[in-house]
Amino acid sequence: MILTVEKVLDISKYTKELFKLFSTSENILLICHINPDGDAIGSQLALYHYLKSKGKNAALLSPNYLQEFLKWMDGAGEINVFIKNRKKAIKLISEADLIVMLDFNQTNRLGEAEKHVINSEAIKVIIDHHLDPQDFANIIISDPSQCSTAELVHEIVSMMDGKPFINKPYAESLYVGIITDTGNFEHGTYTGKTLRIIADLLEFGIEKEKIFNLVYNNFSTDRMKLMGFALNRRMIVLPELMSAYIYLTKDDLNNYNNVKGDTEGFVNLPLSIKGINFSTLFIEKDNFVKLSFRSKGHFPVNEFAASYFAGGGHLNASGGEYYDTLDNTIAYFLRVLKESSGKRKNGT
Ligand code: 5GP
Ligand code: MN
Repeated sequence: MILTVEKVLDISKYTKELFKLFSTSENILLICHINPDGDAIGSQLALYHYLKSKGKNAALLSPNYLQEFLKWMDGAGEINVFIKNRKKAIKLISEADLIVMLDFNQTNRLGEAEKHVINSEAIKVIIDHHLDPQDFANIIISDPSQCSTAELVHEIVSMMDGKPFINKPYAESLYVGIITDTGNFEHGTYTGKTLRIIADLLEFGIEKEKIFNLVYNNFSTDRMKLMGFALNRRMIVLPELMSAYIYLTKDDLNNYNNVKGDTEGFVNLPLSIKGINFSTLFIEKDNFVKLSFRSKGHFPVNEFAASYFAGGGHLNASGGEYYDTLDNTIAYFLRVLKESSGKRKNGT
């Protein structure tokens, strides 16, 4: 059965289609995006635990490795990592009759799995909360008003069950998705509905301190020192442009024995400076620079990322890439930052 591709507004209609697909599919594969964050893994595992509770067999795939702060999660050990075992991952993709992709809406977020997923004959579903989905799935359940894909998954599975679904591993996954995409309720599009879900999770008995510590208080000494170095030596504040940026070279990262995830959250730090509403983090890679953007207020950093850095994301949190040296990337960034500063002054 091939459904037509549509951008979806009516979640209840597509939830019914999805319910049918879950009932009839034999090999369901749930895929998160490359460099998975808490919401990618949280939404993927929440859906997994729901399907398992219904007796369905679902496999899990991530394009690359999980960061330390997510590895403790129930089910995380069952996530197949494409770049760790390509043969198995390709087999899972080719055997799947239903592929559900969570927390992304662009094929390039599949990393090395991209061409295999595109060429697969499985019915493809996207469940996501980013703007402007690319048409590469049969069903796209896209709701940018949700604070996290985890919350959207909860809405969908609760609609399928006719009442809010919950069990322990599901509750923990949902909680991790929501706290990480809202910076523990510091930013993002969380609403009263989000907090009512959190209330349900707390009443269910979720161990919120334990989860908070596992997610946020799990860093190495090197990472703390790298943060201090970044703020002291690598942060440039441009008050006249209401902006600040932090850059880290490959050597900086090596000097502090950087491991994946160590720079997570650094981009938010300059936003706590009075008068700064736009923050950028530059991370030097082998032949490109990875950029992260954050804003306060109405300046759409996803548009900035898409216009100048082949990226995207959310209104206040986005990322992109630039294939040049770090110095040239920063010089280009400063040019386009000045160009867009009028917009920011008007928009915030
Ligand atoms: P982060 O700065 O935490 O890596 O990413 C913030 C947000 O921007 C995430 O929601 C992520 O989906 C999006 N994002 C980050 N990098 C890219 C990118 O290279 N391309 C696109 N389209 N989105 C990105
Ligand atoms: Mn998300």
